[in-house]
Amino acid sequence: MNHYAITMPQLSDTMTEGVVVTWEKQPGDKVERGDIVATVETDKAIMDVEVFKAGYLAGPLAEVGATIAVGAALGYITDTAGDVAIAAGEVVEEQAQTEMIPHHAGTPVVMPQLSDTMTEGVVVTWEKQPGDAIKRGDIVATVETDKAIMDVEVFQDGFLSGPIADVGSVVEVGHPMAFIVDDAAKANDTGVTISADHKVRDTHKVAPPSADRPAHIPTPKAAPGQISASGNVPPVARPQGRQASPYARKVAAQLGVNLAGLAGSGPSGVIVAADVARARPSMAEVAHSLPQVDVPGQGRAMSSMEKAVSHAMTASLTLPTFHVTVNINTAALTAAAKAKKVSVTVAIAKACSVAMEKFPRMNWAYQPVDKLVERSNHDFGVAVMSNDGGLVVPILHGIEKKPIEALQSDWTGLVERARVRKLAPPEYANPTFTISNMGMLGVSHFTAIPTPGIAAILAIAANGPQGTPFTVTGDHRVLNGADVALYLATLKQTIEAPEGWIQGSGVGVPAAEAVSGTAAITSVPVSPIPEGNWDFPVVVVGGGPGGEDCARDLADHGIKVMMVNNEPFPGGECLWRGCIPSKAWRAAADVIRNRAHDAEMGVDGTNTPKLNWDQVERHRRWVQTSRGEMALKADKGMKIDVREGYGEFVDAHTLKITPVEGEPYTVSFGAAVIATGAPAFVPPIPGARENLANGGVVTSDTIWNLSSPPKKLGIVGGGVIGVEMAQIFRDFGTEVLMLERNDRILAEIEEEIGKVLIASLEKEITVVTGAAIHEASGTPGAMKLRYANKDGVESVFDCDVVLMATGKRPDTSRLNLDKVGVELDGAAIRVNARCQTSAANIYAVGDVIGGYMLAHTAATQGRVAAGNLLGHASEYDQDRDCGVTFSRPQAGFVGLSVAQAKAKGIDAVEAKMPMSIDAKAMITGETEGMIKLVADKATGRIIGVHYLADHTDTLIGIGVMMVAGEMTLTQVAKAIFPHPTQTELFGELARRLLNRLRRTAKK
Ligand SMILES: Cc1cc2nc3c(=O)[nH]c(=O)nc-3n(C[C@H](O)[C@H](O)[C@H](O)COP(=O)(O)OP(=O)(O)OC[C@H]3O[C@@H](n4cnc5c(N)ncnc54)[C@H](O)[C@@H]3O)c2cc1C
Repeated sequence: MNHYAITMPQLSDTMTEGVVVTWEKQPGDKVERGDIVATVETDKAIMDVEVFKAGYLAGPLAEVGATIAVGAALGYITDTAGDVAIAAGEVVEEQAQTEMIPHHAGTPVVMPQLSDTMTEGVVVTWEKQPGDAIKRGDIVATVETDKAIMDVEVFQDGFLSGPIADVGSVVEVGHPMAFIVDDAAKANDTGVTISADHKVRDTHKVAPPSADRPAHIPTPKAAPGQISASGNVPPVARPQGRQASPYARKVAAQLGVNLAGLAGSGPSGVIVAADVARARPSMAEVAHSLPQVDVPGQGRAMSSMEKAVSHAMTASLTLPTFHVTVNINTAALTAAAKAKKVSVTVAIAKACSVAMEKFPRMNWAYQPVDKLVERSNHDFGVAVMSNDGGLVVPILHGIEKKPIEALQSDWTGLVERARVRKLAPPEYANPTFTISNMGMLGVSHFTAIPTPGIAAILAIAANGPQGTPFTVTGDHRVLNGADVALYLATLKQTIEAPEGWIQGSGVGVPAAEAVSGTAAITSVPVSPIPEGNWDFPVVVVGGGPGGEDCARDLADHGIKVMMVNNEPFPGGECLWRGCIPSKAWRAAADVIRNRAHDAEMGVDGTNTPKLNWDQVERHRRWVQTSRGEMALKADKGMKIDVREGYGEFVDAHTLKITPVEGEPYTVSFGAAVIATGAPAFVPPIPGARENLANGGVVTSDTIWNLSSPPKKLGIVGGGVIGVEMAQIFRDFGTEVLMLERNDRILAEIEEEIGKVLIASLEKEITVVTGAAIHEASGTPGAMKLRYANKDGVESVFDCDVVLMATGKRPDTSRLNLDKVGVELDGAAIRVNARCQTSAANIYAVGDVIGGYMLAHTAATQGRVAAGNLLGHASEYDQDRDCGVTFSRPQAGFVGLSVAQAKAKGIDAVEAKMPMSIDAKAMITGETEGMIKLVADKATGRIIGVHYLADHTDTLIGIGVMMVAGEMTLTQVAKAIFPHPTQTELFGELARRLLNRLRRTAKK
């Protein structure tokens, strides 16, 4: 059991003792970090004693009224429950960290944690003074973190009050820098200086920040003791708000591991020794554990940024590095950059990315222990000199997919912020590669040091007689000399002949990339289709949206391609069993539903629409067959060799085709694309699979055989397909019961949109969530659906037919994927962002790879696979994908929701507008729902749009263009939308969000 003394803190230099006024906790009481345990009276005021050590209060406690010298024990903290007092005569050397704050000081403004590595920050300025009124969202101070200078924003109204940490104070994350009180009269105008060892050093009147007042230089912290490998190392402190076993803390001390942020694998997430053993030591601890040479003289403490650089650079000594240099003639690139009006830095970054497409390893990183992180995102750090002479490394994100003009616009803002060291954490954290250009300073040759987290750094020196030296320092655990030499050779070609890619980076994108609908990535095309005497360079298996778009793109580029499809016409599920027929039914249902508003608008006599089922079906089939015939004609016209039959792999270059009639045969191929879709999945509920054959149970594959709309329909599954069908049949006059196993239907839809849609749906149909489905029995027209609700109450729903809308699942069992080395991820085929499977010459797209099972997703991925086979590096980016649920009102999404963005570390904000305030929606009586705009706070880019509105299927196009075009709130706010149309809402939303951001931004 460990004991720690709570000592009388020293509030000021003049304070020598204090009097105990109250104890706020009793021996045995649990104490959390930051709890106030006592109040004491000093020579200045009554102060609360705040303890920064979790545990239990233990006696003996100083008596109320006793005078205790500064530094003497007031009481103790123990780490063991029930241990209410220290032993008589026990000497407690370890101290619990304490802090004194004035009694009733108000709400503390604490030092925020602004990056994963930040443990303390230095107060740089106070933007408000004690007594100043504070509004939610105000910036009260700026602090220097280990990476940049950041604003401190508060979210409470009130008045700033002291003691405020003086400019230059080093405040630990989570500790108070100042307070907010609710009454100006209560504001306290004292200031304190807090040093790096977190002791209050002094008190004085706080003066307003002034440019010429030098920042207080904190007293240096004592040099840390050498960490010994013996078992006598004291355990590290418990991480804040987390549990760690005593042994884990000891091992952490020995290995120099920082427990903050470590995942715990013990019971209830407790950090155990094994977690510590697996962890990466913090850079500070690695740096401090390396031999240090003591230097005579009085050192000054490093600033947070100096410390971070020092630790990272020392830790980088653990990287086994090597250097490779080539000389490059940059004249052509400089001229091309000038012509494009972009900076040479941006052009070089883009060139590095273009060359890296062929050598993706340069962008990887070593991850302890013995792992490689294979990254395809090109987020390059580019070193910039800040106005105060320091080096800052802002990150240009997504270089691989952005045109050079967009990169230039990113870079302009980044450099401005970097120069004053005002970067947001995502703008400097986690680069994948780094570029340092000291050539501008006339340096003839230098090497740069990669920090842990990247595998390579590029050092560019000044132009000399043989060209400009480009030196890569590489981490030998990830790269070898040949990797870097080949990369640099390609970079040389890329920079010396920029015409091939720099043009394509802007308006003149090569055709294949321009139409792919995917990120335009510029590289000299080198087709990866293996060379050989194949029957077909590429075969496509499956003729749905994924396969067909892929085959068309390849054929369009002159590749001889065969597409084998197990159906007479192309179109796949989308045309024959999915999007098209369901929307044909929806169109008829819409006509019926829309009549409900006629009387409201002054048109009587239209409220008895009558469904003509035969005509509905005739119309649906006409659309399907017409489109199927058009598609086949177009495919053949483009010289795609379309075959009807079932394809399966024989080996990595042979496909066996079993036609409907005739003998199976084989064809040889260089590369293949699998686009075989995912059929409806029926879970093993008694009777569900058994009654498929007689039609008592149907799926989305077989519902198209209904001879008339059922009078009563039982639907199992509350996903998008179930909901679309439920409303269609409701409009056709069917009574619908929907059973869902989970506690919410439409789980895939953005939460708030989903909630409103569900509420609307529940007015029309009966939805039972948390249902256990026991059986689907009977015959068509007389089915019984037996289920229990979430309370276990059993019911039977008598209906004509049961629709199993229980999802879709790829079935690759007959493709012989094991013969070609294509791996699965669950039921789906595993692919990378380029849609390439684990077999290099085989790609897979659409529903068969899982993810969003949508027709346009499949088609996009088909074009991505084609693009890669043509040698253009292209990737599918789910973060820009979209979808519409054809419910009423229609739900839709483009890009990310706030929750999804936050999970990716993007500081996202949203604004929403109800449809009920839109003039056009009021005129047409379509006022249900809302539109939401999601933007990245740091860049103002629109990253998501979410809809619940009639006509979402049209309005969504605007969201798609905003997200795909990376439009900013300012651009949309300035755009002119016509009146009265629902599109006006987008401008309103952008302006609303901009104004909100402006209000909370630093003045
Ligand atoms: C009721 C319903 C409504 C839908 N509505 C929409 C919507 O509104 N919007 C939307 O975007 N998506 C919708 N979808 C989803 C959409 O239909 C699919 O996401 C899309 O069709 C997937 O395309 P794919 O190319 O991956 O596969 P598929 O369209 O399934 O095509 C695969 C093709 O491959 C063939 N095939 C399979 N195995 C072989 C083999 N071994 N050899 C040869 N051929 C083979 C199949 O016969 C089929 O023709 C809906 C789906 C359903 C069920």
